[in-house]
Amino acid sequence: MAIETSEYPALIDGLRANFDSGLTRALDWRRGQLDALERMLSENEEAIGRALASDLSKPEQEVLLGELSLLYSEIRHARRRLKRWSRPRRVSTPMVGQPGRSWVQPEPLGVVLIIGAWNYPVQLVLSPLIPALAAGNCAVVKPSEIAASTASLMAELIPRYLDSGAIRVVEGAVEETTALLKQRFDHIFYTGGAAVGRIVMRAAAEHLTPITLELGGKSPCVIDQDADLKSAARRIVWGKCLNAGQTCIAPDYVLVSAEQREPLIKAMDTELKAMYGDDLLLSRDYARIINRPHFERLVGYLGNGQVALGGRFDESAKRIEPTVLIEVKPDDAVMQEEIFGPVLPVLTVDCIDQAVEFIRERDKPLAAYLFTRNRGNQRRFIESISAGNLCINDTLMFMSVPELPFGGVGMSGMGQYHGKAGFDRFSHLKAVMKRARFPEVTIRFAPYSRLKMRLLKLFG
Ligand code: NAD
Repeated sequence: MAIETSEYPALIDGLRANFDSGLTRALDWRRGQLDALERMLSENEEAIGRALASDLSKPEQEVLLGELSLLYSEIRHARRRLKRWSRPRRVSTPMVGQPGRSWVQPEPLGVVLIIGAWNYPVQLVLSPLIPALAAGNCAVVKPSEIAASTASLMAELIPRYLDSGAIRVVEGAVEETTALLKQRFDHIFYTGGAAVGRIVMRAAAEHLTPITLELGGKSPCVIDQDADLKSAARRIVWGKCLNAGQTCIAPDYVLVSAEQREPLIKAMDTELKAMYGDDLLLSRDYARIINRPHFERLVGYLGNGQVALGGRFDESAKRIEPTVLIEVKPDDAVMQEEIFGPVLPVLTVDCIDQAVEFIRERDKPLAAYLFTRNRGNQRRFIESISAGNLCINDTLMFMSVPELPFGGVGMSGMGQYHGKAGFDRFSHLKAVMKRARFPEVTIRFAPYSRLKMRLLKLFG
């Protein structure tokens, strides 16, 4: 049954009381919740697949690749390291602090709010929930209403498997999220677009609540002169077609030299046919666009520049062929905002330096990709491009490494998670110092003197 907005304060008070009781602090409780989450996924893979098929026609294999495997891997990684991560972390104490010991003691934050987006609607609410629970917090989870079937499945499953005294799901859209954001949380973890990110940040400021913003942006993909074009084309096509391009780290546009543009597009055509057959609009391995407004927005881009590949769409099925656009100008609409769909402008640049300059003139992206065999250029790209995540010679694959923190920088977001970064994100890293009472070193106390000054300079 839906929770009324008037009930939110009591719901959060209830979670806070349970948090204060110490319920979530015990490592056994945390492990138990991670086990239950894993069971929830493994026992309901079919139902999850059906919900994602209904929301996005997400192919079964993409449910595994883009949602479930990442979650299984995060859960196992966190469970194995839980004890190590939550232990006090000893740091050295300088002479003036002797005799004494100092350490960092992670402690849970309290009651956190997790607001998910629709494109990976299971993964984007559960990936933050894993570290939130591992770190010993209570959580309110607000799935995106736009992926409606998955949101209601999450609302049904989570209370069946997880401790309702500590984890609650609130379903709803703008009105409900606005009401939730009026409450005081100890952290807000938001995934979605920048416009709502600003609303979240403003609301958080009211209570001085710390936030994580997992936003998006235009993730560039650079093809260097000596790139292996066949491999680049295959990996770009895969990264762009997964979930029909509705992936925050999908390659948004390609920068390539004028000579390589045609061979690259030809190679992409070959790879597209090899992966999806001759009529991609009929392929069962290709997801659809989430809803009509997004479909219309994406179809609107097809008038920018010139279509070099694809371009067809099926309005009733909300499917759009992966479409490569050429002769696109930097001030065309398709280059002004994140595309978030299967449209790929391919722009030409003279050299890698020009590509780097093009990227650096724009907002810092969530991901940036470079295809090259040249080690010097790899190094230059890594050093000169600021992005949430960089990947050389592939797309998206850094997501499979739990020890790589994930998150944006600048306009693509703030705060990182996954693996230990996620645990730390949902913890307060409390600084603790413990002094022995004897012997008492008196050089810091008044009355001050030249000798004490000299000793302080020496040992301070
Ligand atoms: P969305 O429409 O699902 O919105 C995200 C959340 O914000 C939802 O839960 C929604 O209910 C809530 N919301 C919407 N309007 C609101 C309002 N006025 N006030 C309060 N809450 C509101 O998702 P979206 O914004 O369309 O998501 C797409 C964007 O998210 C893209 O930019 C994409 O790159 C980004 N994204 C980022 C990541 C990441 O991990 N960094 C992952 C997925 C998507």
